[in-house]
Amino acid sequence: MTVYLVGAGPGDPDLITLKAVKALEKADVVLYDQLANEQILNHAKNAELIYVGKKAGEHYKSQDEINQILIDRAKTNDMVVRLKGGDPFVFGRGGEEMLALLEEGIPFEVIPGVTSAIGVPTTVGLPVSHRGVATSFTVVTGHEDPTKSEKQVKWDFKADTIIILMGVGKLEDNTKELMKHKDPQTPVCVIENGTLPEQRIVTGTLEDIHQKNINPPALVIIGPVVDVFKKARL
Ligand code: SAH
Repeated sequence: MTVYLVGAGPGDPDLITLKAVKALEKADVVLYDQLANEQILNHAKNAELIYVGKKAGEHYKSQDEINQILIDRAKTNDMVVRLKGGDPFVFGRGGEEMLALLEEGIPFEVIPGVTSAIGVPTTVGLPVSHRGVATSFTVVTGHEDPTKSEKQVKWDFKADTIIILMGVGKLEDNTKELMKHKDPQTPVCVIENGTLPEQRIVTGTLEDIHQKNINPPALVIIGPVVDVFKKARL
């Protein structure tokens, strides 16, 4: 009974690690979320596949329920894979699942994945750091848990590049917050469905990006590196 917390990469089924493929091939059970591309599940030839994903707003299964399924399956199966989009520890709640397993004394291993936060901009030719332009980057959630009483995100980031995940629903609110600390003309690039055939790239500024009909899943990248990307691509 070992649980593998595995990253599936950002979408393109070739952007998964060899270690993840090997774990899927050997798995008895795979618990998976809504994946950008379900082709990845084809590696799990002998496994029982269990969907435990959530949809924005309506929770299909609560995190406690998912932890419980994981624990129950680990106790009755040799090898359980918990597959998550991107990297399991980047806004994937993988850390919570790891702690739940630890509490039960269940052995686990974590297999990292290419996070969309970096893999998606890199794929289109947008470097998140760039000599002379950006020496630091921040990855932040645009959608804090609405049940939390106090907001943790302050939006006064010092990093040269800001990358927002889950940033579509509150794009206007969040860019307004950022404009309290940054020039409204700061360049912004949004990548929808990155690394997938439906990929769409939209550019603008902090001031106007929310007017550009952005749809999830999307990454919002803010800062002067967007101009480097424009030089390369536009
Ligand atoms: N663990 C994942 C992130 C989970 S949060 C990772 O490391 O990538 C889900 C958010 O990731 C989405 O709201 C979106 O902002 C971003 N995302 C994931 N896949 C994406 C893709 N293919 N294109 C654009 N954004 C993506």
